Amino acid sequence: MKPALFIDGHWVDGDGAPMPVHDPSLGQIMAQVPAASAHQVNLAVQAARRALPGWRSLSGARRAEYLQGFARHLQQRREGLIALQMRNNGKPRHEAELDLDDAIATFDYYAGLAAQLDARQDQPVPLQAPGFSAHCRFEALGVVGLIVPWNFPLVTSAWKLAPALAAGCTLVLKPSEVTPLIEQVYGEIADALGLPAGVLNLVAGAGKTGAALSQHPGLDKLSFTGSTATGQRVMASSAAFCRPLTLELGGKSPILVFADADLDQAVHWIIGGFCWNAGQMCSATSRLLVHESIADALLQRLRSALLALRVGNPLEQEVDMGPLSCQAQWRTVCTYLEQARNEGLECLVGGHALPGPGWFVAPTVYTDVPTSSRLWQEEIFGPVLCMRRFSDEAQALALANDSAFGLVATVISADLQRAERVAAALDVGHVWINSLQAVFVETSWGGTKGSGIGRELGPWGLAAYQSIKHLTRYLG
Ligand code: NDP
Repeated sequence: MKPALFIDGHWVDGDGAPMPVHDPSLGQIMAQVPAASAHQVNLAVQAARRALPGWRSLSGARRAEYLQGFARHLQQRREGLIALQMRNNGKPRHEAELDLDDAIATFDYYAGLAAQLDARQDQPVPLQAPGFSAHCRFEALGVVGLIVPWNFPLVTSAWKLAPALAAGCTLVLKPSEVTPLIEQVYGEIADALGLPAGVLNLVAGAGKTGAALSQHPGLDKLSFTGSTATGQRVMASSAAFCRPLTLELGGKSPILVFADADLDQAVHWIIGGFCWNAGQMCSATSRLLVHESIADALLQRLRSALLALRVGNPLEQEVDMGPLSCQAQWRTVCTYLEQARNEGLECLVGGHALPGPGWFVAPTVYTDVPTSSRLWQEEIFGPVLCMRRFSDEAQALALANDSAFGLVATVISADLQRAERVAAALDVGHVWINSLQAVFVETSWGGTKGSGIGRELGPWGLAAYQSIKHLTRYLG
């Protein structure tokens, strides 16, 4: 196996302790990857700094060619990457395929924006004042640190890598210790494409690697996806250098089902919202709000559908849901199930782990959960849904917005005017109306309140890696 660190255009072994990488369906170690030391993180940042002048001075069109190359190589490695995600993440095949398609679409999209950059440079800015001219330049922010989690390793990395490279930034990417093999592909593609040395550096690590990167004085920006608690630490380290950051953190998102909803469709979207990726999604719509007139009928259908859900090892059979991706997350979810028992919550279905090997949990629904419950308030990051009834739109909105988070929401109603009205009043970054959680690279991604700062994807994702410079001239 290749060493997991790619620094200054070379593959190197990590100086740190080996990290066991698991197959979560079997609960077994599938590889050992040596972690990067703080010294190696420093070498990676220095390499990125040296590579910056050359990379940012390339035309947008030239950088676009490299980005197209990433998309092309991902496509060429399709089968291997799908299999690796199924094995290391426990993703069902159709989810692993979608993740790969998403990553490819992201590189293609930012290749397009990079190519347009040249024509956007130095555009005159109309001024009200006579006697002056001004024009605008979009410059690369500099050397950026990218820290990504394990739940969507290919996708989350693509959402950061592609716009950063398009903007002309050089970077150090730190994959999660749970899935370091998956992001290795980005180093391999950089290598195969002949990306200039130091433009893309990869430092797998655990324990202290993330902190070594986020506290490094040599970065111009940090982009982090993960828990709110770690996001706060990342923000504190960025404050010390007054440097910008993008934070994509947790969620406890609502899904609102109104009385006129098609119940079978609603059940389909509800299940997608908390069982996709075994519920390990920052965007999980894990708080279900249902109009009281349809609640019992909906719950009955939801229970039957969840009992029919196929849960198992995606490499052995066709499944709808795989295991939790790591043992730590499985333990966290089991602790919440125990907490639910202690709180005396009403369990409609599930409420327990499934027999091993592997880290499986039954899809779980608790009904009429008090808003004071920890399960109602906190991100669980597993296939666990908490439900409450509402009597009118105002109450539904008040319950939906009563959260420390504000990432996404789903609204299900046959009345589109109502759906749009409710969507406008929800304090979140993205709302789906009568839809599965479809995420398109052209639309933004990010949240309000404890869900983070800034937006990824779309032109906003590119702007997050750019510095704006205006040149103003006195015409005499
Ligand atoms: P964390 O958010 O705690 O992330 C851990 C990652 O952050 C590791 O890669 C770690 O690297 C790095 N890290 C730790 N400390 C710092 C620091 N000071 N500066 C920079 N990086 C740091 O996630 P966990 O995997 O522990 O999951 C815990 C919970 O987080 C989940 O239960 C879930 O609720 C939430 N989560 C949210 C995600 C999302 O998509 N928003 C994704 C994953 C998890 P190292 O160990 O090398 O330092």
